[in-house]
Amino acid sequence: MRVKFILPALTEATNPYWRPIKYSLFPPLGLATLAAYLPDDWEAELQDEHVEPLRLDDAPELVVIQVYITNAYRAYALADIYRSRGSYVCLGGLHVTSLPAEAAAHADSIFLGPGEETFPQFLRDWQQRRPQPRYESSVRTLVGVPPIRRDLIRRELYLVPNSIVVTRGCPHHCDFCYKDAFFEGGKSFYTQPVDDALAEIDRLPGRHLYFLDDHLLGHQRFAASLFDGMRGMGRLFQGAATVDSILRDTSLLEKAAAAGLRSLFVGFETLSERNLRASNKRQNLGRDYAQAIERLHALGIMINGSFVFGLDDDGPDVFARTVEWAVKQGITTATFHIATPYPGTDYFKRIEAEGRLLHRRWDQYDTRTVVHQPGPLLTAEQLKTGYDWAYREFYSWANITKASLAHTSLKHQIKHFAYAGGWKRFETLWNFMIKTRQLNSMRPLLEAILAKVQGPRGTLNPAPADFIPLPIVQ
Ligand code: SF4
Repeated sequence: MRVKFILPALTEATNPYWRPIKYSLFPPLGLATLAAYLPDDWEAELQDEHVEPLRLDDAPELVVIQVYITNAYRAYALADIYRSRGSYVCLGGLHVTSLPAEAAAHADSIFLGPGEETFPQFLRDWQQRRPQPRYESSVRTLVGVPPIRRDLIRRELYLVPNSIVVTRGCPHHCDFCYKDAFFEGGKSFYTQPVDDALAEIDRLPGRHLYFLDDHLLGHQRFAASLFDGMRGMGRLFQGAATVDSILRDTSLLEKAAAAGLRSLFVGFETLSERNLRASNKRQNLGRDYAQAIERLHALGIMINGSFVFGLDDDGPDVFARTVEWAVKQGITTATFHIATPYPGTDYFKRIEAEGRLLHRRWDQYDTRTVVHQPGPLLTAEQLKTGYDWAYREFYSWANITKASLAHTSLKHQIKHFAYAGGWKRFETLWNFMIKTRQLNSMRPLLEAILAKVQGPRGTLNPAPADFIPLPIVQ
């Protein structure tokens, strides 16, 4: 039996503004996780169109395609091709869960929510020749999940092949986030058994890890045990967490730093209390962002700040205010987004009910394109122009220098400058390394170069990172 897992490329891969490096960071872990449920004697193949051209001259018995909003049209086209050849096609992922009827027109079976329970169920049904057209996840557990089929991943094509996910979901409920829709009908935040997570980490070669969990510090007891277990493993890792978790009066962050945490993706999203309230981002309300940043910097943890433009309280001054603030705070890298109402979210429902959706061309719902009429204080044109300006301005050499100088130690200043500059200003070099399939060789090189600015390692205040603080790709 031959099974093909496909992550189609989003349409923007052909767009001149597309940054190949952004999509050559992480392998498709979700598909490699599903592949682990196949019987041992089945043949499996995993293709990621972001990093390699798809081979489309085959006709496997089963094709499993992961669909997210901007790759949906491409995913449907591929599904149609394989179905016309007699392959059985399964579609799953965030977009399928949000718009199941749309996806069902291109699939033999669709999967709503996480697949750890439903995919093995489907495999049993399919072998007994009674597969269902629709599988909806309800039981949520990561106990007994088999080890990810990392052997299917072409590590050399990714800058960060050692990505890992040890939890699912998030304890919060921001109204613009996919999370609630994806996990509807069951638990929306749960963790792997700590021993399984540690065993998975142990299996990964090298030093780098990137935790792709929505909120690595979301379950305090789990995270504390994980970091205790990781201590002494010699790992360096990145992850994501919320502002409130950074400010908690516990030693969790110190444990994380001692275990190797060197950069954190933090969802600041907006400096406006009104926007926070309207977005139900309660975990950020009344929090002292500057204090959170100071705490991370004191532990040698670099910050990738996430910001959303175009929420209803934003006026034309939001871009300059946000960039100025982020630079002043010494945030290493910033990810800016144009507010985007994703189908299935409360934000989408509100914007749709108010008649403010400009269109439903999903391939443009990429957080770089304005797809809804912004609030009363901003025009769509101002939003797009301001967003583009914010990126240019934040990553100007003048501001990279200024933000670097916000750190008190010279080592941090140099590191910040090198990382921020390397991430955003050396596009030609990244593209060359991707084209020549040498991306994998960049990591040790960067480690070696950056290790020169490392200082002696303390227990609670570990050495600076020796890797790029790569922004998470949403
Ligand atoms: S904290 Fe992040 S992952 Fe959690 S609900 Fe909000 S946006 Fe989503």
